[in-house]
Amino acid sequence: MQPGRRAGRTQPRRDAGQRSAIDPRALGIVIPLLGLHAGQYIEPMLEAISQGIRVRWRARLPGCCEVCGGWTRAGLCAGCRERFCVPVARCARCAIVLPAALPCCTDCLREPPPFERCICVADYGFPWDRLISRFKYGSAPELAGPLAAALQAAADAAGMPPPQAFVALPLSARRTAERGYDQAWELASRLGRRSARPAHARALERQRDATPQARLPRAQRQRNLDGAFSVPAGAIASVRGCHLALVDDVLTTGATARAAATALLAAGAARVDVWVVARTPAPLGEA
Ligand SMILES: [Zn+2]
Ligand SMILES: [Zn+2]
Repeated sequence: MQPGRRAGRTQPRRDAGQRSAIDPRALGIVIPLLGLHAGQYIEPMLEAISQGIRVRWRARLPGCCEVCGGWTRAGLCAGCRERFCVPVARCARCAIVLPAALPCCTDCLREPPPFERCICVADYGFPWDRLISRFKYGSAPELAGPLAAALQAAADAAGMPPPQAFVALPLSARRTAERGYDQAWELASRLGRRSARPAHARALERQRDATPQARLPRAQRQRNLDGAFSVPAGAIASVRGCHLALVDDVLTTGATARAAATALLAAGAARVDVWVVARTPAPLGEA
């Protein structure tokens, strides 16, 4: 019978397809027999795939504001930029908040830093602390885009003279390996692209891995970093005679930026400014 024969021809093909698919019940029997747990392999694999997709596409697709979750194409929505990127009176040399519109703080008057000017978007507080923490430790290099845009806007608003080149403050090799990227370079390269100026990833190198600054008392931080940076011979030509912007995510005491700027100036840089996303506020009683 024709219909029955047709059904007879199609039925075996469906059966064959079912046999060739991996039956999860079979995995449930085979994997324990092999002494393996499916989750041990499948979960990290799925996490790696989803992280790769996030990193690759989040920077390209419109999505949610990183702070309020509202719809935006710019990482930070207009409302959050207006609310959290408010310019305040700061020392032109070290970007510490000043109680009045003075050109310089007393610390910088007493002991001027080697860099000429410092610009930041805001103090290291909400929401910048969370954004930077996620940028550094949360495998989210795509956050460099909105952070660099906010930094460029702050520099424009403060009338920062455009540098001839951006220099990333290098992370130690160990930390770069741990994080998978160098956050200062992610920022510097985007700032360079935005203003069509070169950005150098290796104009500075760390001479040694200094003791992490956070573990040291404030007074010892500069000594810990003396001579910590140098300009490699191959990079001297790209530094000599240039007005440079040294780029990092956060300026805390300024000791790291001082050491790095000193090395750039010693190699012949004409001027060094410091560009950071956030500035740690002065300890209570020092503002
Ligand atoms: Zn927002
Ligand atoms: Zn100052």
